[in-house]
Amino acid sequence: MHHSSSDSDPALTGDMPQSADSSSDDFPRLALETHEPTVFGRGWISGIISAVLGIAAFGAVICFRFPGLTVVQLRGHYPVDLIRALLHILLVLSFLFGTISLCLRRNKVFGIVGIGAVLLAAALGGSTVSIGGDIQNTWLGLDWFVLNLMLYSAVYIPTERFFALHPRQPTFRREWTTDLSYFFLNSILVQVLGMLTMKPAITLFDWARVPAVVNSLSSLPIVLQAVLCLLVADLTQYWVHRAFHQIPLLWKFHAVHHSAEAMDWLAGSRLHLVDAVATRSLTYLPLFVLGFSEPAIAVYVVIVVIQATFIHANVHWQFAAVQRWIATPCFHHWHHAAEPEAINKNFCVHTPIWDRLFGTWYMPGRWPAEYGLCGSRDVPSGWLSQFLYPFRKLLSFRKQNPTSSST
Ligand SMILES: [Zn+2]
Ligand SMILES: [Zn+2]
Repeated sequence: MHHSSSDSDPALTGDMPQSADSSSDDFPRLALETHEPTVFGRGWISGIISAVLGIAAFGAVICFRFPGLTVVQLRGHYPVDLIRALLHILLVLSFLFGTISLCLRRNKVFGIVGIGAVLLAAALGGSTVSIGGDIQNTWLGLDWFVLNLMLYSAVYIPTERFFALHPRQPTFRREWTTDLSYFFLNSILVQVLGMLTMKPAITLFDWARVPAVVNSLSSLPIVLQAVLCLLVADLTQYWVHRAFHQIPLLWKFHAVHHSAEAMDWLAGSRLHLVDAVATRSLTYLPLFVLGFSEPAIAVYVVIVVIQATFIHANVHWQFAAVQRWIATPCFHHWHHAAEPEAINKNFCVHTPIWDRLFGTWYMPGRWPAEYGLCGSRDVPSGWLSQFLYPFRKLLSFRKQNPTSSST
């Protein structure tokens, strides 16, 4: 029931034969996308473990050597001895799994990445690396990327493998490197994005806070505040998101998010910086003015991070009992659907009640067959090209229509 026609799209799936007896000579030796079978015993699982652990270990060694690259608020709280012990285990495991993958798999990319990262990490000091003296307050969060990479891969790679909506869509599908670039930048720029989200409201709208409202709201129980926070945030986010769809100038930025033709946890990271910053800062504005307490906003942020990723995931769970009240993967997959009747539907992130209230709720009781921008496939691949895409579109529009601004 949940299988869709896109399962059979060889371009999307990378045409991945699953039969164990297929001749391995047909597969490329170095490829970033999945071509070989991924069943146990073919060096796929060991390759991913090696690459993820190797990159994480290398990132951790860099964090030790250059503590200025870590998130200021986390820097002093790490149990250093425990991390050194874990780092040692990561290095050994990554090397072992990388060796297994190199032996079992014709595609050597993941084994090479894993073992290469281990060798680089070892050359820079390995688990006995000395802590660098430079703790200048920088704006990067390399440690946040390392933590996110390990946590998200550990949760989503197995989940999407065992509970896939599109079982033939591999983890390393077309354009996954584009989406990983977004994941990397969103993680490493966590402090910058946080600042850009909160600073405009705090500096420009302090006057709008009414002490009586702030006091009564922030004294409510945290759970109640968090629920109200989700409702208010999703109402704002609904209209901002809808504006990004219906105002042509804004759509050029948001089209980048919708250019993903495969849905999985990584596809959710694909968001133009202008889109991400505008949406987040505008969504934060009423939360700040109303005066929700910091712990309530922290609970809200955790839920946003989890739900915004999960609703993109390649999982077949329907959640039929709660889908009228809670935004589910099926609900958001329809937001990304290429089918004409689903265009400009399902704008909410947390609860569909705003879509139901404003007439944009669309849940036909099945899953979409295709995702992406069916009509205009002109969004390029790659982070930089996608970053430049809306600006290029705007420039070419002005050239073709020199009088458009005055009409
Ligand atoms: Zn959208
Ligand atoms: Zn989305």
